[in-house]
Amino acid sequence: MDAHPDRERDTMMLARCLMLAAGCAMLAACAQPGIAAQSAIVATSAASAMPLQAPAQPEATPLPPTLPAPAEKVATTVAPATAAPATATVPTPTNQPNTPRSLATQFPQPFDEVEIVEHFLAGDPLPPGAGGLSTNYRYGMTWDGRLAPHHGSDYTSALGQTVIAVGEGTVFYGGPDLGPFFGIKPDFYGNVVVIKLDVLWNETDVYALYGHLDTVLVKTGAVVSAGEVLGTVGDTGVAYGPHLHFEIRIGDDPTIYTRVRNPELWLRPPPYHGVLAGRVVNAAGYLVPGQRVYYECASSRKRHVDTYWDIYTPSDRVLLENFVAGNILAGECVVTTEWAGARIEKRTLIEKGKLSFVVLTLPD
Ligand SMILES: [Zn+2]
Repeated sequence: MDAHPDRERDTMMLARCLMLAAGCAMLAACAQPGIAAQSAIVATSAASAMPLQAPAQPEATPLPPTLPAPAEKVATTVAPATAAPATATVPTPTNQPNTPRSLATQFPQPFDEVEIVEHFLAGDPLPPGAGGLSTNYRYGMTWDGRLAPHHGSDYTSALGQTVIAVGEGTVFYGGPDLGPFFGIKPDFYGNVVVIKLDVLWNETDVYALYGHLDTVLVKTGAVVSAGEVLGTVGDTGVAYGPHLHFEIRIGDDPTIYTRVRNPELWLRPPPYHGVLAGRVVNAAGYLVPGQRVYYECASSRKRHVDTYWDIYTPSDRVLLENFVAGNILAGECVVTTEWAGARIEKRTLIEKGKLSFVVLTLPD
């Protein structure tokens, strides 16, 4: 169960976030490729918390609250990403990287054994051919240090494109992100639809969130079927431009901002495709944040993800992964990361409709 033990902590985190929203470093949290590339924003103080350019579109999102000091001393610190993504456009340089300085000891120490439990419970949030997953701002990533760790998946899509229910369920909320609100502050997600899926996971509720919609075409309380139109893609709330921001949240209260999980673990892969997940850990077994992981698979070019940058983009409670790469054509993959001049490599087989898992252990 995921609900009660964390609730108080999550609520405190949110309260701290809200306080910080008024007076601390702020970053944009949700972007649209291309447009964001021209207008990435970082503000570093309360006085400068407004966007530095293109003020009509991007706003600022608070960074997560300052992380607590680690309880024990383990040497690992964040390894900054070094290589530019192959496909991403180059965002406008910002004043400072401004990524959180997470430490490995602030992350859970995984069990030695990996229990692979798939839960591909949902379909795509867009109709076929209506948009694709943004590759450089996936869950837990920071767009090379320019944005706050991402709480969901962004889909490139056109203004007005319909978004659809990923499964059967009930509309928990459809309307402006004002009351209740689901982000770090009111109107963060603009027009938002949140569906409570009929399916449970480990007796826990599963919610799907659609942010920045142009229009909302369902009412709170409506019963929806998989594939039913919920609204249209827009750029409302904190968004650089039209795109779909999609999240999976679990637990009994979907308004809690930190109840997210990596959506790529929940969406059924397309035919002939599978999903890769894994951990990058230090020699002591702790998950290492902000570590770039490359994967080169059959019939595709080399791609990358970053391990989750902070503890507010949590892992699956069973897998305890810190990276996921979905939509990989079945075949062999070489998964690598680099640390202090060393190259750590694992090979794995991606199977159709399955989850594959690798553990990359960094040297001391
Ligand atoms: Zn987003």
